[in-house]
Amino acid sequence: MSFSLDDLLITPGKPADLKKRDPRETFGFDKDKAPDELEKLNTKLVDLQTRLAAEAGQSLLVVLQGLDASGKDGTIRHVFSGVNPQGCSVTSFGAPERSELAQDYLWRIHRSVPRKGQIGIFNRSHYEDVLVVRVESLRPEKVWRARYRHIREFERMLVEEGTTIVKIFLDVSPEEQLARFTERVEVPEKQWKFRSADLEVHKKYDEYRAAYEEALTETSTDLAPWYAVPADRNWLRNLAVSHILVDTLKKMDPKYPEPQVDAAAIAELKAAKAD
Ligand code: AMP
Ligand code: MG
Repeated sequence: MSFSLDDLLITPGKPADLKKRDPRETFGFDKDKAPDELEKLNTKLVDLQTRLAAEAGQSLLVVLQGLDASGKDGTIRHVFSGVNPQGCSVTSFGAPERSELAQDYLWRIHRSVPRKGQIGIFNRSHYEDVLVVRVESLRPEKVWRARYRHIREFERMLVEEGTTIVKIFLDVSPEEQLARFTERVEVPEKQWKFRSADLEVHKKYDEYRAAYEEALTETSTDLAPWYAVPADRNWLRNLAVSHILVDTLKKMDPKYPEPQVDAAAIAELKAAKAD
């Protein structure tokens, strides 16, 4: 059994309807087979990334969004293991600093998009500016609502200028989120990840999910689609994200550039040495 990416895609132009999605979904996939499958996908990812870097003509932007404890960090760690660090950048977006607040909200985003040949991973992104900003009433509705349009237009520009964009929502259930917070509180090695503010966010789970639902509906486009990945089970989440990335990179079809080898000159050099 396998799953098709259509199951994960938020179809552009249609309501995201997250109620129909189950964070525990496995699509009939077998956990025992997941490690082998993941390794195969990882090999493909590494090959495609090498080609992308060699070609140096287009770039891939991966936007990772999800509530606290939805597994953004774990996804990056697992899915990109083995990928050449020289070909990747990870940018984590926290609450904007003073200097960032003095600019428009897309300023810090734009300066972090990947260069040609690179994969750029956003751990949170400009979407926080229609999510946390909305739920926590950091800006008036008129301000954040206009941002759906800004974001669509900004992303269109990036795509038309050679950046492929793929956006992934890690969909964790409130029960699993709470279980992960509990673990963070109890396991000493995980305590650093926990902030008491996380519990306030947990209490607003439904509000956040509703904000996600609207943001996904408004901004999943043919040019820059959203995928919703069930995130209660780490192994399924890793598999799904790897699938999405391999599929996206395959479509980008990065190619090694035409060789610039001057065989005659090398032969001449060799002959000269042999004399
Ligand atoms: P973490 O991902 O756990 O390091 O937390 C980062 C925090 O920064 C989260 O609570 C986000 O909601 C918050 N954050 C990220 N972007 C923004 C933004 N544009 N405005 C306000 N808060 C933000
Ligand atoms: Mg956090």
